[in-house]
Amino acid sequence: MKIAVIGTGYVGLVAGAGFSEFGNDVTCVDVDAARVATLEAGKIPIYEPGLEDLVQRNAAEGRLRFTTELTASVAGADIVIIAVGTPQGSYGLGANLEQVWSAGRDIARALTGFAVIATKSTVPVGTADRLKEILTADSAHPFAVASNPEFLKEGDAVNDFMKPSRIIIGCDDERGIAAMRNLYAPFVRTADRVLVMDVRSAELSKYAANAMLATRISFMNELARLAEVVGADIESVRSGIGSDPRIGSKFLFPGPGFGGSCFPKDIRALAHTAHGHGIELSVVEAADRANERQKRLIGSRVRQHFGGASLSGRRVALWGLAFKPGTDDVRESPALAIADDLVTAGAEVAAYDPAAAETFRAQLGHRVSIASDMYAAVDGTDALVLVTEWKQFRRPDFARIKTAMRGNALFDGRNIWNPGELTAQGFQYYGIGRPCPPASPQKVK
Ligand code: NAD
Repeated sequence: MKIAVIGTGYVGLVAGAGFSEFGNDVTCVDVDAARVATLEAGKIPIYEPGLEDLVQRNAAEGRLRFTTELTASVAGADIVIIAVGTPQGSYGLGANLEQVWSAGRDIARALTGFAVIATKSTVPVGTADRLKEILTADSAHPFAVASNPEFLKEGDAVNDFMKPSRIIIGCDDERGIAAMRNLYAPFVRTADRVLVMDVRSAELSKYAANAMLATRISFMNELARLAEVVGADIESVRSGIGSDPRIGSKFLFPGPGFGGSCFPKDIRALAHTAHGHGIELSVVEAADRANERQKRLIGSRVRQHFGGASLSGRRVALWGLAFKPGTDDVRESPALAIADDLVTAGAEVAAYDPAAAETFRAQLGHRVSIASDMYAAVDGTDALVLVTEWKQFRRPDFARIKTAMRGNALFDGRNIWNPGELTAQGFQYYGIGRPCPPASPQKVK
């Protein structure tokens, strides 16, 4: 099949490369000429495990191309995938759909015959209907509109895309449904995980999935606060409830708050859509509020540890800046809020991340210094804050850290370290929702 993918961000690039892997003829289009030039040169503008190989192999074999020329790419395409950004609007909480409308107008003018226009971007209910109007106004050719929300996770995007848990196709046109089924057939050979539904249900499913996951995280973060004050350990509570098959063990990890390019903006857009229809999604709104509060927790803990508001003269190391391991994406990362709190309180912050140093620097400028490795970051610091649980942070050399640090405070934002062991080594340990042993081990009589 001939496919045009509009937008080569995390979603468009992974999708384009994934479709080409199964023999399709794919052209990826982006308005960002620098990004296209990078891709044409065989380089990948983002960090995503396995993506470089996939892109380079398919490009070398002539199935995957990159261009800024939308018209030529859409002409003759069987399917056009819209994968542009849908950021939060600057004057409200709804999604800003300018990139979708602009792509829609360009696609309409470029059509040369029947094509399916499928939205992979996360878009509010009603977007496909509006897109249909735009296409009808600007094109004389027949087309079908489909909603094809994407569920990949950054950090494991290639794997998720190539082995999807489900494919949702929202479409009310038989020709459109057949083409989309055909596109995804190689991805679901072992079991048909294609769910066909009406367009509005498909659009809402994506927001509902993100809102459910975000709500679970906020629920656990709030429960972690309660665990601390009542003397319980949220990690035991997590195992206790996660072993119930009705609940399941995923997305129950307390932490410094969720971030990323999707959850925060998507739950706000969902609540905004609901308000537009006179409905209050109070659970979803509470999940957002709880998350904003959670992002500020570690900053205030560090201040408390040092006895007050000012951190002047204190040096703090930050491990992990990406919003999750496996990506260089720092959009809405809790590390941004924590770094901002620490620097605002007067601390000097030395940060380290295996992949996100540059994207973080682009957001926070030179307010924090970026260390060349994880141990260099802790040199001469009073406290170490773990924000993102990259694998190399799980079992670090604590003896080396102890010698390198000036102080002894550890803030484990992901509960990945052992409080007892660290306390015995002379650290003051702080987790999220777990008992925090006093720094010097007490003798049992
Ligand atoms: P992104 O911002 O990384 O990429 C969007 C790309 O689209 C940019 O490169 C931009 O230059 C390009 N673009 C904008 N307007 C264009 C136009 N008119 N023509 C051609 N290119 C254009 O975004 P992303 O993270 O890939 O997300 C894309 C969509 O997918 C969003 O709606 C997002 O919510 C959704 N989504 C993202 C993820 C994720 O993990 N990142 C997962 C599922 C769904």
